[in-house]
Amino acid sequence: MTTSFSHLSLAEPLARAVAEMGYESMTPIQAQAIPVVLTGKDVMGAAQTGTGKTAAFSLPLLQRLLKHENSSTSPARHPVRALVLLPTRELADQVAQQIKLYAKYTNLRSAVVFGGMDMKPQTAELKRGVEVLVATPGRLLDHIEAKNAVLNQVEYVVLDEADRMLDIGFLPDLQRILSYLPKQRTTLLFSATFSPEIKRLAGSYLQDPVTIEVARSNATASTVAQHFYGVNDDNKRHALHQVLRRHGIKQAFVFVNSKLGCARLARALDHDGLKTAALHGDKSQDERLKALDAFKKGEVDLLVCTDVAARGLDIKDVPAVFNMDIPFNAEDYVHRIGRTGRAGASGLAVSFVGGSNDARLVAEIEKLINKKIEVEALEFDEDRPRGRINDGRRMYNREGQDPRQAAENQGRERDRERERDRRPQQRAHGAPRDPFFDQPYQAPSLSPDAAPAWEAAAKAAPAARAISSNIKPKRKVAALFKAAQPVVS
Ligand code: AMP
Repeated sequence: MTTSFSHLSLAEPLARAVAEMGYESMTPIQAQAIPVVLTGKDVMGAAQTGTGKTAAFSLPLLQRLLKHENSSTSPARHPVRALVLLPTRELADQVAQQIKLYAKYTNLRSAVVFGGMDMKPQTAELKRGVEVLVATPGRLLDHIEAKNAVLNQVEYVVLDEADRMLDIGFLPDLQRILSYLPKQRTTLLFSATFSPEIKRLAGSYLQDPVTIEVARSNATASTVAQHFYGVNDDNKRHALHQVLRRHGIKQAFVFVNSKLGCARLARALDHDGLKTAALHGDKSQDERLKALDAFKKGEVDLLVCTDVAARGLDIKDVPAVFNMDIPFNAEDYVHRIGRTGRAGASGLAVSFVGGSNDARLVAEIEKLINKKIEVEALEFDEDRPRGRINDGRRMYNREGQDPRQAAENQGRERDRERERDRRPQQRAHGAPRDPFFDQPYQAPSLSPDAAPAWEAAAKAAPAARAISSNIKPKRKVAALFKAAQPVVS
């Protein structure tokens, strides 16, 4: 199978946009799905975000809509022809921005509607007429009820991240939306897994779909050092501080399993003096976009988030990922830690194992990534016998740094600087010039000497840290369970 875009016979405006994006060859999902979608067949695709899935459905869809392209200002000449449904606001925005880039040399209009934002500007855009409408289900229903969106001329519907939509409980909304669409249409369904629920959904709404499965990447990059530490819930925050300081980490994703846990942890870390933002479903749209933007600019050190809020976001190359909770789905573990250790850079993935179900969840991860996981004991600094290491005074308790630690940190910082310098050239070929979500992650432009916020916080209040009610400094934390061999990377 050829992987060059030039073999697709894309219309010139689309081919030009693709060339401008710097895409050299098709990704596997693109190579398989684009020719099928171009024929107008239904597709059931197993592919995750990050595989180039958006272009896989939107390029052929735009190509087929070109016959409707016109420059008339009349809204009647621009009915909704394609509907793309996604589970979260961030994903909807990200996909809409990509579609805008692919369609930029055509007269096809696109728009995005999602909740948490004023309906008025969305209404005005819908009333002007759009051919491609990207939406989250709830807000789309609001617009349908307000008669802002008329869907009787829809020819294509894309159910993207369908498994997540079902997880969130969007099935009734989806069923209602699909009932407004013409029966004669092409339906494309993308999902990370083909669970029985997804198969039922496909059975009800797809006709003779072509199944496309790209080899799922369950592999974790060898550049990511994975550590699992046995830490009980009360000590996890302390453990996080400790690993951050020990590794001189300046920015990290911190994953938790629940919205409530996310909000609580972010507040607590903020209280500890770290620049922290939370990303979860209960945050307003504005807060979520601001949090992401601040993290990308390096104004925020820790982005504490849930899987649903963070899934698919195009933020990569973060120095470290923490799993405060072991994810319920082993696949989410692969997603989470895939945000670090990209492009040959070394990354750190630290998971805290402490919940009652964690042994089972870790075993599932072990099976998925096909690597033995050893749960290590995390020795807290306060536990170290005084006089053995630095006279018992750790780096963050001193005015100056421990020279060995400082040299190690400097070495790491130099590596990171080198990586930072290399990154723009590597990305120039592959990444779009998306103004927001598709901006590649850039490490903050901190001076190499700048201490991470947690060091400053620790220096500022070492006593408070030691006597925090959440911290039991004298306690050694034992491994919850043992495995024969260490993680093989
Ligand atoms: P997606 O899975 O659609 O969210 O795409 C993930 C990232 O891959 C986005 O930043 C896209 O711009 C980028 N991308 C998509 N297709 C290609 C391609 N053929 N070559 C290089 N980058 C791509």
